[in-house]
Amino acid sequence: MSFYRIYRPQVIEEIDNASVRDQLLGLMVKDRSKLPHAFFFTGPKGTGKTTAARVIAKLFNCTNLTKSGPCGECEQCKNIAKGMNLDVIEMDAASNRGIDEIRQLRDRIGLTPSSSAYTIYIIDEVHMLTTEAFNALLKTLEEPPSHAVFVLATTDAHKVPATIKSRCLELNFHKATADELLHALERVAAAEKINISKEGLLYIAGLADGSFRDAVKYLEQVSLATGKITEESLQKMFATPQYAKLDAFIKLLFSNDVKGSLGYMEEVRQQGVDFRSFVTFVLQMLEAELVSVAKGEGEPKFGPMPRLKRAIALFSKAYEELRVSPIPQLPIEVAIIEFCAGGNEPVGDVRAAAPKAADAPRSVHASVATTSRPAAEVVPPAAAREADTAASQSLGLLTLDKLVEHWADFIAATKPTNHSVAGVLRSSRPKAVENGIVVIEAFYKFHQEKLADIQTKIILSDVLKKLFGEKVKIEIVLGKK
Ligand SMILES: [Zn+2]
Repeated sequence: MSFYRIYRPQVIEEIDNASVRDQLLGLMVKDRSKLPHAFFFTGPKGTGKTTAARVIAKLFNCTNLTKSGPCGECEQCKNIAKGMNLDVIEMDAASNRGIDEIRQLRDRIGLTPSSSAYTIYIIDEVHMLTTEAFNALLKTLEEPPSHAVFVLATTDAHKVPATIKSRCLELNFHKATADELLHALERVAAAEKINISKEGLLYIAGLADGSFRDAVKYLEQVSLATGKITEESLQKMFATPQYAKLDAFIKLLFSNDVKGSLGYMEEVRQQGVDFRSFVTFVLQMLEAELVSVAKGEGEPKFGPMPRLKRAIALFSKAYEELRVSPIPQLPIEVAIIEFCAGGNEPVGDVRAAAPKAADAPRSVHASVATTSRPAAEVVPPAAAREADTAASQSLGLLTLDKLVEHWADFIAATKPTNHSVAGVLRSSRPKAVENGIVVIEAFYKFHQEKLADIQTKIILSDVLKKLFGEKVKIEIVLGKK
């Protein structure tokens, strides 16, 4: 059995994701009979949704519940941990079997639990359900028998109807922070008596990209090594020989050698190196250099401060875009080309210049002029037009994924300006983000009208600009419930 499964947190206090842990502990002030009976877990893979779902199951069925949650020791808790409790039904909506199970769900929902107080239905990847299955589920959620508890989990919250979500207590599982990953890794390393330093664990945390599952998987890989584990041995283990030449790559980049830098990327691609870790290593090296230059420690190795900052901005942007790019290496190649074309332009202009730079390097300078000088002065007509249409050009800072992830933050940020708009947003959802236009789906005609009001659109656009740094247009469509 893998470390991840062996060391799955069993009680609330062991949950590594701090905000989830706190929210679950918050539930403990209530009497068990007053707890919500439907939960909606949303977040990326490997962030602990299944683990928390099982803790919820224990919360309802533990026979020795304390103020800090389920005991983890009683027969119920132990069976749930092993996945052997007949009253905890785990379904995967992504599998064919899952769809069948949902069909059966309505028939069996009336049955009382066989050996526990409650029956817990955990439906994973719930966004995969068909419309009919959603309708069936909704009916069940509307009038659930008192012994039934639902935990719906998804990596893709915006595909789940608002009508379903609104009946659930929603918990967001964000990507794990370095501290949270460290918390998890320390727990496993101690239990397995792995001889590894805190720096070594942080290095592994850095590789895991916010996933507890990946972090623990890497640690398991490390545990098979003999001898003391150092940062150096870790670098050897997880990096390909190419990383030793990273220094050379960054020097190529800073000498504006587009051909050489792209050639290096091609080698990286052929080696099958993971691009996210590649960019992470590039950024780590740039960051170390940035700090050392800022502190005035020795001569700059690659170039002056503004160029360092520019490289960091471009590669950070590439990192963001790697996740959604249909051509895996493309964002890195664009970063290379933009960097080499941009000369020594300071970093503040990167965002404004970025979308044009790849196909027309000249316009980089044109739009730099618009942002760094007083408006009316020497602005070429083309650049002036660009500024006018800025809203219809996506800078790529705001994506649908980001908006979905931060929908609650968006609502919260709208609230101080307009309370009732925030209320309407709560029953609407983000539908698309394309070419600088954010499409919001409302489910009632009067909601649509409210949001489509000119003043409201300006408010929404301003809030989005503040949150994501991008000016966008707003469109409201009426969705089917
Ligand atoms: Zn228990």
